[in-house]
Amino acid sequence: MTMGKLKRLVIHCTATREGREVTSAEIRHWHTDPKSKGGRGWKQVGYSDLIHLNGGVENLVPYNEDENVDPWEVTNGAAGYNGTSRHVVYVGGLAVDGQTAKDTRTVAQKEALKKYVKNFLRQHPGAEVVGHNELAAKACPSFDVKKWLKETRIM
Ligand SMILES: [Zn+2]
Repeated sequence: MTMGKLKRLVIHCTATREGREVTSAEIRHWHTDPKSKGGRGWKQVGYSDLIHLNGGVENLVPYNEDENVDPWEVTNGAAGYNGTSRHVVYVGGLAVDGQTAKDTRTVAQKEALKKYVKNFLRQHPGAEVVGHNELAAKACPSFDVKKWLKETRIM
């Protein structure tokens, strides 16, 4: 993997049904357990930070705010982009049927994400902020990040 300058923040959802909380332990299990145990077998989890339903931000993989993505900071959120990206995930993204993509962000999560993105851009002016669906053919994070950035006047 090529590591380099931090170029973007990628926003994700956990793809879990509305109202269901997700713990960091669950994410570790999904991503880093061997395939034989139902995980993906990745060396590292997919995200640096997790935004809970109540807006609390939990760090999953430590990082510093210098301009480089150091090897120990890399997470596996989007193949081909990880060496130059930071990944943040909010809990949710699916309707109660557990299948339909839906922006399930709570008021607290929206507020936390807004603060998070603003802080990221203060630390990394010039970096871009994208949804996972702008990098891959996916519904994740179940909302239009570009539109939201405009609506909230973040960018
Ligand atoms: Zn994603």
